[in-house]
Amino acid sequence: MDAANPPPDLFEAEHQSMLAARAAYETGTQAGGGACHQALGDLLTSYERLLRETRRLVRRSDRAELEMTLLNQRLQDLASELEYRATHDPLTGVLNRAAIIERVNQHAQQNDLALIVLDIDHFKRVNDSFGHPIGDTVILGVVNCLKAVVPRCAHIGRVGGEEFTVLLPHRETPASEQVAETMRKAIETREFGLPDGSRITASFGVSHLSRGGCFDDAYGLADEALYVAKRGGRNQVVRAADSVLS
Ligand code: GH3
Ligand code: MG
Ligand code: MG
Repeated sequence: MDAANPPPDLFEAEHQSMLAARAAYETGTQAGGGACHQALGDLLTSYERLLRETRRLVRRSDRAELEMTLLNQRLQDLASELEYRATHDPLTGVLNRAAIIERVNQHAQQNDLALIVLDIDHFKRVNDSFGHPIGDTVILGVVNCLKAVVPRCAHIGRVGGEEFTVLLPHRETPASEQVAETMRKAIETREFGLPDGSRITASFGVSHLSRGGCFDDAYGLADEALYVAKRGGRNQVVRAADSVLS
């Protein structure tokens, strides 16, 4: 702020009216009726202007507050959208690879968990025979099967093109195998509407991780089991030989 040129006092006129009214009040009757009347008139004019200005300012401030609230809401919506995009797969809406890994590692710090890894069987054939867009609808159909049958506490993640991971918190391996079996059946029996009427299947590997373990351990075992399922003829669930103990 420039000390040599202080900002003009917005209420200079009102201030002067106040001083004049105060002087008239203090000199009282000696000042005479005319001077008092004049001071009162000026004071009224100033007061009315002050009231008008105050009302205008209050209206403006109400509008600004409303705009601020709307902008704040929009900012929160954008932040949520950004967070969603950073953690979800754009095609299927399930967690992306980084997010499911983080979720598993976070969960493993406090609890045991089960991990199911699944991979669509002969998916290249779908793409080669009917094209990539139909391949995408198959991926979406598989995810719908998973969403329809997994327990509410489960988290589904897309770890690769047509490979998914399901985190089952607090699940012992036998129950996890049942969940995987339910998913397998849901996919096998779903009508995908492919042009040649063929069906889709997937293979599953299941592992169990004790508290203190990490995603890589559980995933490594489940992936080995998945590989056994593929070699064993596909469309089946295989449980990992060893659970990972902390
Ligand atoms: P297997 O039974 O051994 O798993 O055989 P597969 O044909 O499924 O082999 P693989 O798992 O290696 O094939 C993955 C294919 O998935 C290759 C890739 O072109 C395709 N793919 C990956 N991401 C997408 C995607 O987002 N959309 C579509 N349409 N295809 C994808
Ligand atoms: Mg694959
Ligand atoms: Mg595959």
